[in-house]
Amino acid sequence: MMRTGIGYDIHRLKRGRRFLLGGADIPSPKGELGHSDGDALAHAVCDALLGACALGDIGELYPPSDPAWKDADSLELLRNAFTLVKQNGWQLVNLDCVVICENPKILPYRDVIRKSLAKALDVPYEIIFVKGKTAEGLGSVGRGKAVEVFAQCLLQKQPDMQQKREGQWV
Ligand code: MG
Repeated sequence: MMRTGIGYDIHRLKRGRRFLLGGADIPSPKGELGHSDGDALAHAVCDALLGACALGDIGELYPPSDPAWKDADSLELLRNAFTLVKQNGWQLVNLDCVVICENPKILPYRDVIRKSLAKALDVPYEIIFVKGKTAEGLGSVGRGKAVEVFAQCLLQKQPDMQQKREGQWV
C-alpha cells in the first residue's frame, strides 16, 4: 500500500534570526520568526509525513500554545513525527520539496539541506529533493518578508506490517 502526503508552511522573516531549512543553517541577514526555531521546511515535511498516514498535524502534536515547544529544535519534532510514522508501519519512498523565498538563492545550499534532512530522518539522501523558487517579487514572499514551503512525500507500508484479511491486503 502506498500513501502520499502534502505539507505547507509559511514563516515571517526577521533580521537577526537564523534561517533554518531542514536543519541546515543558511547564511542570510534574515531568518524565520516562530514559536519554535521556525524551520519552515522541517515543519512542512512533518505535516506531509503525518498527513500521508492520517496521524494528525504538527500544530496538534506540538501546539504553539505549549511552552514546551518554545524555541524547540524543529529537527527533533521531525524525528519524533517520523518515528510515529515508522511505528505505524510506514517507510519513506521519497520526499520532494519547494522552498519559495526571494533571498538567498537556495540552489547553492540544496545538497546541504538534502543531507541534513536525510540525516535527521535516517534515510538515503537520494530519496530527498529540494527545489528553490522565487516569488518574482510578488506578495509578502516576493518582498522578502516571508519564506514559504511545500513538501510532498510518498510512503509505503512495509510488507511485514500488512495484514492479510479475507484475501485482501489492508
Ligand atoms: Mg511552522
